[in-house]
Amino acid sequence: MNMMTKPGSRPESRYDILFEPVRIGPVTAPNRFYQVPHASGMTNALPRVRAKFRETKAEGGWGVICTGACSIDLSSDDTPLPMATMWDDNDIKSHALMTDAVHKHGALAGVELWHGGASVMNRTTRVAPLSPSGIPWMATHVGFMGNLRPKTMDKQDIRDVLRWQAEGARKARSAGFDVVYVYAGMGYLGYEFLLPEYNHRIDEYGGSIANRVRFVREMIEVTKDAVGEHCGVALRISLEELRAKIGINHPSEAHEVIELLADVPDLFDVKMDSSPTDCSASRFTGEGSHEPVIDFVKKLTDKPVVGVGRFTSPDTMVSQIKRGVLDFIGGARPSIADPFLPNKIREGRMDEIRECIGCNICISSWHDGVPVRCTQNPTAGEEWRRGWHPENPGKAETPERVLVIGGGPSGLEAALTLGRRGHEVTLADKSSAFGGRLTFEKTLPGLSAWNRVVDYRLGRLREMTNVEMYLESDLGVDEIIDLAPDHVLVATGARWTNFLYSSMEIPVGQLEQERVFTPDDIGAGRLPEGPTLVFDFDNYYMGGVITEHLAAQGIPVTYATPAGQASAWTIMTNELPLVARALTKRKVPVRTQELVSGFDGEIVTLSQIFTGEKTTLPCRNVVITGLRLPRAELFDAMTVREADLRAAGIKSFSLVGDALAPGALAHAVHSGHRAAQELGLGALPFRRDAPIVEFEPSYTSTAGLVKAHP
Ligand code: ADP
Ligand code: SF4
Repeated sequence: MNMMTKPGSRPESRYDILFEPVRIGPVTAPNRFYQVPHASGMTNALPRVRAKFRETKAEGGWGVICTGACSIDLSSDDTPLPMATMWDDNDIKSHALMTDAVHKHGALAGVELWHGGASVMNRTTRVAPLSPSGIPWMATHVGFMGNLRPKTMDKQDIRDVLRWQAEGARKARSAGFDVVYVYAGMGYLGYEFLLPEYNHRIDEYGGSIANRVRFVREMIEVTKDAVGEHCGVALRISLEELRAKIGINHPSEAHEVIELLADVPDLFDVKMDSSPTDCSASRFTGEGSHEPVIDFVKKLTDKPVVGVGRFTSPDTMVSQIKRGVLDFIGGARPSIADPFLPNKIREGRMDEIRECIGCNICISSWHDGVPVRCTQNPTAGEEWRRGWHPENPGKAETPERVLVIGGGPSGLEAALTLGRRGHEVTLADKSSAFGGRLTFEKTLPGLSAWNRVVDYRLGRLREMTNVEMYLESDLGVDEIIDLAPDHVLVATGARWTNFLYSSMEIPVGQLEQERVFTPDDIGAGRLPEGPTLVFDFDNYYMGGVITEHLAAQGIPVTYATPAGQASAWTIMTNELPLVARALTKRKVPVRTQELVSGFDGEIVTLSQIFTGEKTTLPCRNVVITGLRLPRAELFDAMTVREADLRAAGIKSFSLVGDALAPGALAHAVHSGHRAAQELGLGALPFRRDAPIVEFEPSYTSTAGLVKAHP
């Protein structure tokens, strides 16, 4: 490593290559950190929330900051999923808040102009969706299904979309964007023209590769004509399916498409085709998983290339650049989990990187239709609304002595934030390691990366002189009175129960049997012997991973759930198809729409949830992954002795995390952060954003217009 030091500058480092400027057509990115377009759940109805969310990443050193998908016309309407629009003057004003904020920090602002084609249902605008050949996207999952099939675009429709794209680009420039996208990925309109499965046309837009590329090429050309002198024009393209198709002059159709378009855009943003592979969860995929699909692009074009891969390791990033895979290190999730990732690398603060854990809770927020939430970064989406900053929670006016009981995710986050605010913190946990539920869960199949939640916080806490940490400290009320802090946060977590489930879809009754287990039992090392049924009505990851865990140890295991699919809620985190594959690979029979209605130690009785029809299954053990209840005994005991606590000078005591309301890790971390921010201050404002309506809110489009016959 060359460590030469120039006077007045920091030492050269092997990461300097990441901080080189790169041209994108007429504009120049200040470095190689590129926050690719990603959904934020922040529509034009939340312009200030959105601007501050994106600005925070620019402040943290990202050189290019993009919007999520931004519709160019009312024929591209993805509601009720959250989407941005670039339709009228109010939209321009709304986006200008973001571009101004991003520019303040020297970053470029990019906009992902978007037409959804056949994969949007235009539920609000009621216009027939557009498609090359009338082929719909037949989504399999409730919430994504639609019942309106697309119309086949005629030549006028094609001209219309090209015009909307050009108008959208001009509006984007007025809004202050530096990079303007053409979108040909993820099943949307441009992609549908490229893929022969969607494109059956017999005119000049279908058939040969050159014809299938024509629409995308024209989209880029009209964008360049509209704004190319001032803005970089980027093509976002999915290459997974195309790479799997054999080409005529090249190994694959992906190669052919890139060669045909090699000089047309100013930048290639390359990715996978579907959310589960493009934005894959760490349970099933590691860092840099796109490389085998996109590795060839730079060999066929001189234009800069950006791609993603949940990059959090600076050495992997450098390797991507040096090996000629990418010019820009694209980041969506790593930029949410740590908006300050580039600055930390530049300043050599690697230990402080808050690495994305790949849980995809952020994606679930978009599926839920709400602003982004992140497990690692509780301030994501709260930058404007609550005024939270990912690196600086501000100093408390009066430092106080705070006891945090429980060192799981919520207790660790509370202790860290309290410490950063300048309080004197004591963190105590009764077990022999910090980490709470993750101490066990990190050992389950695919979940090791989730322990970054613990590693990041413990690492920072150990550096703090105003935080004391104690293990093997099982605190009761008397010990708390002896310690006599000013405030107590009770982060004692939750426990899994042996509750069953009724056909009314609520937990009911308990299964008292020697060979009934919960995930807590398995975590404590109590393993079932012989054929085992995992009954899952939690529906998130635990039932699936416990099943995998038992199967991996050779235990014959069957999985049953009242839901329609295994780990049904993981459709929200892109994991559901991969859970199904993992259970199949381990040869686990999966039974759906069934309840456990009885178990005698040898036979389990299952009832169909809708008909009540009963079947039996020989089985020695049942593992119930269902209802979690707070472990709040300590808090309840404190409530009983409130007068004694007050007499000892304790001003407040509160529940946080799973002990307050059991939930996903993201909720526990957020709860711990909020408790630390608001300690002793009472409720702080929750600012409500509002759309910008400076102009008469109207937009005229020819989409779906009844056409006059010549
Ligand atoms: P959360 O997700 O809300 O952080 P966890 O279940 O992960 O909750 O962590 C709770 C932590 O609290 C565990 O590490 C547990 O050992 C600890 N704990 C529970 N009761 C006590 C107690 N009375 N005294 C000290 N630590 C406790
Ligand atoms: Fe990463 Fe999870 Fe945060 Fe998404 S929610 S950015 S996957 S840590």
